[in-house]
Parts: sequence; C-alpha cells; structure tokens
Amino acid sequence: MVNYEELTWEEIRDIDKDRVVILPIATIEDHGPHLPVNTDGIITKVLCEKLAESMPDETILLPIVTYGYSPHHEDFPGSLNIGYDTLIRYVVDIGKDLAKHGFKRLLIVNGHGSNGAPVEIAHKRINYETDGKILCASCFYLSGDKSVKAISKVRKSKFPGGMGHACELETSLMLVVRPDLVKMDKARKDMNYPEDTDLFMDWSDGALSFMPFWSTISETGTAGDPTVATKKTGDFLLKVAVDELCERVKILRRLDYNKYSKRVDHHS
Ligand SMILES: [Zn+2]
Repeated sequence: MVNYEELTWEEIRDIDKDRVVILPIATIEDHGPHLPVNTDGIITKVLCEKLAESMPDETILLPIVTYGYSPHHEDFPGSLNIGYDTLIRYVVDIGKDLAKHGFKRLLIVNGHGSNGAPVEIAHKRINYETDGKILCASCFYLSGDKSVKAISKVRKSKFPGGMGHACELETSLMLVVRPDLVKMDKARKDMNYPEDTDLFMDWSDGALSFMPFWSTISETGTAGDPTVATKKTGDFLLKVAVDELCERVKILRRLDYNKYSKRVDHHS
C-alpha cells in the first residue's frame, strides 16, 4: 500500500495521479464507559488501511483527520470539538492542495455521523473551488445498500436503536481491531433516542434529522446495545466495510475524468 506521508516530494511528483487519494476523517468524543474517545478514528483508520492494502496500485492513503464536529457531546468529558466551519475549511484546503499537485480523484471516508454535513460541503467545495480539477466524493462507512442488508443479517440488537453510537456495530469492530481497548464488563445498553415515523437513530438514521445534546438522550454516552457485540460480528462487518470502500474506489476510478473536469459555458 502507498502511504502519502512516507513518500518524498519527487515520488509524489512522479506518482500516477489517477490513483484515488483516500482521506479518512473522524472525531474525538465519548464512546460510552467501555470504548475509548478515539473509537471513530481507530476504526476509520483501519478500514482505510485495509482498503489501501487491498488496492495497492489504485490508491494513496493520507494521514487521518482525527478531530471532528461533535458539539452535542460536550457534556461528556473528553470530547474535542472542532467548529463545523473550521473542519470544512481544513478539509477543503487539503483537497485544493492535492489538486494543485495534480491528483485527479479524492475519496473522503468519514467515520463519524455528525461530520456528515460538513464533509459533504467540503467535498463539493473541493470540486467547485478547483474548477472540477479533482473529482472528489465522500461517504460514511457501512452505509450502502449491500452493507445495510449485511448489517441486518448479523445484528442481535433491536432495529432501530441498537446500532447508534458505541453500539453493537462499533463495539464489534473494536473487538476486532483493538480488543485491548474494549471494556466489555462496562458495556451498557442505553437506547433512549426518540423513536417515531422517520425519526430514529441507527447506523443509518431515519429521514427526519434531529440531534439534541447527547446528554439528553444518553446517560452512559452509548446509544444502542453494545452488550451483544461480538468479535464474530466485527470480523464480518469489517470485511463488508472494506469491500464497500473498494467498490467506491472503483466507482471513482470509472468516472470519466476528461468529461467531469471540463466545464461547459452555456452563456455564449
Ligand atoms: Zn463512533
């Protein structure tokens, strides 16, 4: 796999610019009494490393953006929130410099739900503010149709609600990637997010978006049921997540660069 940070400037100058550059992004926030505050970062980094290992000739892996947008978690000690506008500008600046160096394709892999809106703005701004010179897309992991089906096949927790945050899903993944950091004896089921038509929290939320302060919906910091998490579920979901990311890289590689990097002015 190719780690951007390990290349020299000459190697970066000469590398194939059609490779998809991968930018992982996460946050530092409480993840219940049983998982560390960098859970999103640990999982997202491993997923992107496995992606880069699976497609060594088609990708380049950037260092992770560790901090993210988590103002709703500030009632719990440990969260380090970055303003949404700071986060957007930070990611946009990285994307614009990649375009300046000639890279043509960028995939932002987000591992924290509330980064979703800022990351989406950032990926669009990168496209527009480089005049389309870098084709940039963003995604949340385990969010596509195939993944949603795979999740429903293996989950033991109730839908919706069992897989929100520090939940069955994240705990299962952590049992695979950093079992030494999982305190299963401290894991508690905590499912108090409102549940109504179109309003629910799970790995993919309901269509009606609503995020109150975390301390109003969770006593432990958890939203979901981590007590049913297993390494077996984690192994399965890790594979599904990496397969999904590989597919997304392939999609980005299939985009016709000449078509989407050339604007057409219809004014005259
Ligand atoms: Zn998380």
